[in-house]
Amino acid sequence: MPTTRRPSGSKPEVIIIGGGASGLAAACVLADAGVPALVLEKEEKAGRKLLATGNGRCNLLNFGPPVYFGDAAFARQALSHCGAAEVAAFFAGLGLGLREEEGGRAYPLPNQAAAVADSLLARLQESPSVKIRTGARVTDVRRAEGGFLVETADGGRYSAPRLIAAPGGPAAPRLGGSGELLGVLARLGHGLVPPRPALCPLETETAAIRGLSGLRAPAWLTLFIGGEPACAAAGEALFTDYGVSGVCAMQLARDAGRGLQDGREVILSVDFSPLCGLAPPLMRRLSPSELRAGPARREMLGLLEARFARLGPGRAYTGLLPRALANKVRSLPLPEAAEWLSGLRLRVTGVKGFDQAQVAAGGLSCAGFDPETFQSRSVPGLYVTGEALNVDGDTGGFNLLFAWAGGILAGRHAAGEAERPS
Ligand SMILES: Cc1cc2nc3c(=O)[nH]c(=O)nc-3n(C[C@H](O)[C@H](O)[C@H](O)COP(=O)(O)OP(=O)(O)OC[C@H]3O[C@@H](n4cnc5c(N)ncnc54)[C@H](O)[C@@H]3O)c2cc1C
Repeated sequence: MPTTRRPSGSKPEVIIIGGGASGLAAACVLADAGVPALVLEKEEKAGRKLLATGNGRCNLLNFGPPVYFGDAAFARQALSHCGAAEVAAFFAGLGLGLREEEGGRAYPLPNQAAAVADSLLARLQESPSVKIRTGARVTDVRRAEGGFLVETADGGRYSAPRLIAAPGGPAAPRLGGSGELLGVLARLGHGLVPPRPALCPLETETAAIRGLSGLRAPAWLTLFIGGEPACAAAGEALFTDYGVSGVCAMQLARDAGRGLQDGREVILSVDFSPLCGLAPPLMRRLSPSELRAGPARREMLGLLEARFARLGPGRAYTGLLPRALANKVRSLPLPEAAEWLSGLRLRVTGVKGFDQAQVAAGGLSCAGFDPETFQSRSVPGLYVTGEALNVDGDTGGFNLLFAWAGGILAGRHAAGEAERPS
């Protein structure tokens, strides 16, 4: 049951920077504990990015085994203290039920991202102890007598004994993404892994896919770096005029970006077997064993030969492929058409920038933080949570899960410290 022990208007005991996923979760925990807290959010509305997540449905967590990159061990440790079940219970406490779909992906029961943001904000609206200040862009954070001094661009100065920094990362700036505070937090005594875009579309050579822009097709994608298969994912590929997008392509961007940065040749191989009914239409990262079992040139050739024998060359592709794809292979000899459809090779020339990325890889090194509380090991009273840390997750709800978990754990610890007699 929420407790509200302190009158409204008390000086904050905790300042939270960022009214995104992680900051709002922390604020709700502090509201339940009745601890005076102030959320500083630079946008005009808190929770803005949440509305765009999961294509407007918000895939808010994943019940499956964790898939993280960067400081992945830290993420796993943190989730052992506050995992998917506990986060689901947190939302149940706010009145939000969840529905589990394929691959452990969880969505809000009303199937709308707005329901997630509304549940968090409604809890805070009724709290007499937690205030949200929007349009408050934090520009500096300093240690000060008895805690922290926070300055905002409009000349505001705020102080509190504890600070939860949840400013996210530079991905998706149109939705509030910004890396401007990473340097400030690093200067307080933490390592910083330079952020780079992750989960973003791939830019490829375009001659082979000209005319396919806008086509969505279930496919298996494999990324070859320096000639070796590096990773693969299955799902709906979306062809564009610059390359390939869609969740499965975005899952490969992290490795593609690194390969290109290292000056290596990066090739994307597209296998349309799922489109042609030769492989199951999965939606997930593929394991190395599935990789080997995947590309099916022989099966594709067998399928095409059978259709040519039964339907003749005029109709062989009709009913099998979308028209734009059929136009690509119609004039090719069958072995070449089979090759094209089971292993179309596209040279990757780049990955889209932060503008089109869903998350940023990199951030503050987790070595400086305790995974049970997210408190800094070197700056007592400072907590950093969410995407600002050097953790990025796979698609499927892992990024939000890590953001909620950090907010909840930091909020709980900060509340406990605030209640301790000084
Ligand atoms: C289009 C899109 C779809 C996505 N879909 C999913 C999904 O379905 N599932 C999933 O798990 N993940 C998804 N993600 C990723 C996920 O949204 C983020 O990883 C997550 O929101 C990170 O939470 P956070 O609280 O750390 O940061 P954010 O949610 O980004 O919140 C940070 C907040 O801090 C504020 N802020 C930043 N700098 C300052 C400052 N100087 N002063 C004051 N305030 C500041 C920002 O305005 C923002 O409100 C998606 C991302 C995008 C862009």
